[in-house]
Amino acid sequence: MELGLKGKQIFITGGSVGIGLAVARAFAREGAEVAIGARNKERVEAEAAKIAEDFGVKTLGISVDVSKPEAIEAARQIIEKEFGGIDILINNAGTGTEETVMNSTDEKWYAVWDLHVMSTVRTARAFVPYMKKRGGGVILNTASICATQPLWYEPIYNTTKAALLMLGKCMANEFISDNIRVNTMSPGLVLTPDWWKTAGVLAEKEGTSAKDYLDGVAKQYAKNERFGSPEEIAEYYVFLASDCGKYSVGSNYYVDGGWLEGVR
Ligand code: NDP
Repeated sequence: MELGLKGKQIFITGGSVGIGLAVARAFAREGAEVAIGARNKERVEAEAAKIAEDFGVKTLGISVDVSKPEAIEAARQIIEKEFGGIDILINNAGTGTEETVMNSTDEKWYAVWDLHVMSTVRTARAFVPYMKKRGGGVILNTASICATQPLWYEPIYNTTKAALLMLGKCMANEFISDNIRVNTMSPGLVLTPDWWKTAGVLAEKEGTSAKDYLDGVAKQYAKNERFGSPEEIAEYYVFLASDCGKYSVGSNYYVDGGWLEGVR
């Protein structure tokens, strides 16, 4: 299938590992030039170099903390200099949390709000002007199934991802007249290194192995009783950002192995 992504320029936040890295590699496979952003400079630069080597496309590895406005502006300047702009923006950087409403601090609420919501507002302000100049573009935001079906231990994550879901709809409505399509992805269980780390800690407490712990999580939540791989999830981003997905505007896509209860 010709996806029309060859030569497109893409910025993916949280692109150095997990879902974001798989998305970056999937776009590079289609011939797109990819800029990946994350805080850890060494890792993001190494992964960008590896993508360039594996797929023969131009890449950028940008050290950026997307929760900071000045860091987004610095990333914009690098992308302007090296790419001249972008066609596709993937707002993917994010992290799970662990708290209750009663024990959480204002500081933590604001920090995660900045990471999940304000980063998306700010990258839009930074990069939508390039898309307008190019006659259009695509933005995909990574929310989570938890935006609509919360997990009990992470109210800050659930709430900020729900806000991101609504933000995606508002952006879609605002930008479509400039031929910029905005959609949201809501993954379920995706087996990233972070899950292995969490499982290692929790499994030890329960006297089991990380693998058995993860199998238990998958059985508990996913109707197909397994985690998705980052690579499986990445294909949806590629499709939605491509010409094949051009009638999708302001929608939210669950890719969750059937975890979502009911229909929405
Ligand atoms: P990972 O923890 O594997 O990767 C997170 C990425 O984001 C890394 O590249 C990390 O690099 C980067 N990142 C984190 N904080 C910042 C920051 N402040 N500024 C810039 N980059 C940052 O996450 P996943 O791949 O698991 O998740 C990716 C997205 O998908 C997240 O938004 C997550 O909420 C969402 N999601 C994940 C699910 C899952 O099961 N894995 C399910 C549903 C949604 P660095 O640390 O160097 O900054």
